[in-house]
Amino acid sequence: MLRTSTRLYRPVCARTYATGAPPHALVFLEHRKGTIESGSLSALTAAQQLGGQVSALVIGSSEHVGGVVEQAKKLKGLTSVLHSTSPQYAEPLPEIVTPLLKKLLSDSSFTHVVSATSSFGKSLLPRVSANLDVPTVSDVTSVEHDASNDSTIFTRPVYAGNAISTVSAPSSIPIKFFTVRGTAFAAAPTEEGSNAEAKAVEPVQVDDCPTEHIKTTIAKSDRPDLSVASRVVSGGRALKDAKTFESTLYPLADVLGAAVGASRAAVDSGYADNSLQVGQTGKVVAPELYMALGISGAIQHLAGMKDSKLIVAVNKDPDAPIFQVADVGLVADLFEVVPQLVEQLKK
Ligand code: FAD
Repeated sequence: MLRTSTRLYRPVCARTYATGAPPHALVFLEHRKGTIESGSLSALTAAQQLGGQVSALVIGSSEHVGGVVEQAKKLKGLTSVLHSTSPQYAEPLPEIVTPLLKKLLSDSSFTHVVSATSSFGKSLLPRVSANLDVPTVSDVTSVEHDASNDSTIFTRPVYAGNAISTVSAPSSIPIKFFTVRGTAFAAAPTEEGSNAEAKAVEPVQVDDCPTEHIKTTIAKSDRPDLSVASRVVSGGRALKDAKTFESTLYPLADVLGAAVGASRAAVDSGYADNSLQVGQTGKVVAPELYMALGISGAIQHLAGMKDSKLIVAVNKDPDAPIFQVADVGLVADLFEVVPQLVEQLKK
């Protein structure tokens, strides 16, 4: 595996801050209608690895914030849960949350700001960090803080996962911003007896936001969530059309209790919803079992699944690159293999 190394520098015009403080991370906790997102729980675990205090920030409408705060208070290793309630935070936009986070950071002594590598986190953190003339390190897979020189070392995959970059953020970067790859850290568990302190924070009203939330559409499915499923059955361009994709893959997914995934070619051809795409520009998954059916194994697809524990590939082409990462490979026609597999698994 290729390794690269980067040291972050602050521009000369950057403001100065006191350094040398013990780490105190602020983790932005995303939730959907009152349930904390698993990626945010992984971000909490990453923050705990800094070896200092960890606080969480929860925002939302009055309908949901109370319940999320109660869940968060019970999480292992959390010192405090800051919460802010406003109708503006019901379907929050990064533009609307930015002033709140900026204010919080100017009024407190947080050394690290952490979020999941979600669409929201990837938009929110750089908005705030740029304002402080410091970068955001994205998609972090390991983190270590050296208290002796106040520096934090991150690793993150680059070049579609073909190289690992080590990024050093020295003490001259007083607040270190990073987003966390969910599959690289276990979700923070709840702990009997945990009772983090809850503190209300005044919302910051934004009257001139250039963007507006219109609607959120959630793809409904009775299947396990692709991002966290322990088994994934994925199909590629070979599945021909949406009807064949469904009639071939879904019985196998059902019998395995698996989530369904797709290559980008399958998504672009209209066989599967965009939310099912696995890869560099889709979801990154690391299930116990990943079945790649009629998927060639382009590097952009591998970037999203090659950390899976057991990879099973079925492809007609013996030279398909997917076989280079597969633990079990079958050179065969998937339309013959999959129905037989379903029959056998049902027995
Ligand atoms: P193909 O490459 O066409 O492969 C189909 C495979 O099916 C072939 O290997 C063939 O041998 C096999 N096959 C055909 N018939 C059968 C059969 N009956 N039985 C068994 N095997 C059969 N791709 C992603 O998947 N995810 C991403 O996130 C992603 N991001 C990208 C980002 C960028 C910037 C770019 C440039 C590309 C990205 N891609 C992504 C696209 C990627 O490069 C490939 O084009 C794509 O993954 C190919 O999908 P596929 O394997 O389904 O199709």
